[in-house]
Amino acid sequence: MAASVQVYTSSEVTSEWRIAINKAINIWNDTNSGINITTVNTSTSLSVNVVMGEIGDRSHIANGYYPYGGKPGTRIMINTNFINKLKDADRLHTMIHELGHTFGLRHTNEPAGYLIPCTSPKDIWSIMFGMHDDTTTFTYFDNVAISTLYPVALGTKKLYRYKKNQYYFYATDACEITPSKDSYILDGDAGYLHSTQIPGTVPLYRILNGSTVKDHKLNKNQTSSNDVILGYLYPTQQPGTTPLYSYGIYESKPGQTPSYMYHYNYTTTNSEAILKVIIGYVNNKTITKETPKYPIVF
Ligand SMILES: [Zn+2]
Repeated sequence: MAASVQVYTSSEVTSEWRIAINKAINIWNDTNSGINITTVNTSTSLSVNVVMGEIGDRSHIANGYYPYGGKPGTRIMINTNFINKLKDADRLHTMIHELGHTFGLRHTNEPAGYLIPCTSPKDIWSIMFGMHDDTTTFTYFDNVAISTLYPVALGTKKLYRYKKNQYYFYATDACEITPSKDSYILDGDAGYLHSTQIPGTVPLYRILNGSTVKDHKLNKNQTSSNDVILGYLYPTQQPGTTPLYSYGIYESKPGQTPSYMYHYNYTTTNSEAILKVIIGYVNNKTITKETPKYPIVF
């Protein structure tokens, strides 16, 4: 399915729902993923059509169709029969959730469908959890699911940056974060790496940083047989790529030898810093918001 989605909102949809729809579209567009939603003024054979109408079950706020024939789900229906009064957050949650259905996401807590590797079937705060709540942010596992299904470019995988106290861990395989590693949080992402080497790319290795097994850095050169290739990036800028910056973070260790060390934060966010180096170029969506920091709850 194409990840470029058009949304048409039918004329009977009330203004409070239109606000929710537009906010939900922005929230999806702010994910660092291949999903790009635009609004259109006329319904087309490709558009997701948001309509209002009666759904027999008065406990359903809305429903959304799944993708079919390579197209996103064609309809989201808002139930004019819904039994309770809704708050703005309920409407926003509902529209993020129903758009998720039109991209092919099913409920995290139901056995239908297929569990995206390295996500949890017990993620009760997921936007795609089947029981309604009024959360309006994605969870860590939502983030993994979205970037697995809709990477920004074909053949790429998101480079996740995890953090635990001052220590960093980097992975393109979210399955590396297991319950035994659950005190890491997702600190953000660092763009997307190619899964296999394509012309013009070089390997990116994950290397232990210092004497602790908890801290890591990245390097284009292999330094030991323990180094792990996370993927492949470009040494020079290419269309659709952004710089991957390395920021050295100084830690003083009084009374120890050596008396200091550096930790390395890799990110596509450009900020003022002395110890900043571009280590290569990664596929990336230019988004206005930074990835929120997600606790990982198994
Ligand atoms: Zn649902």
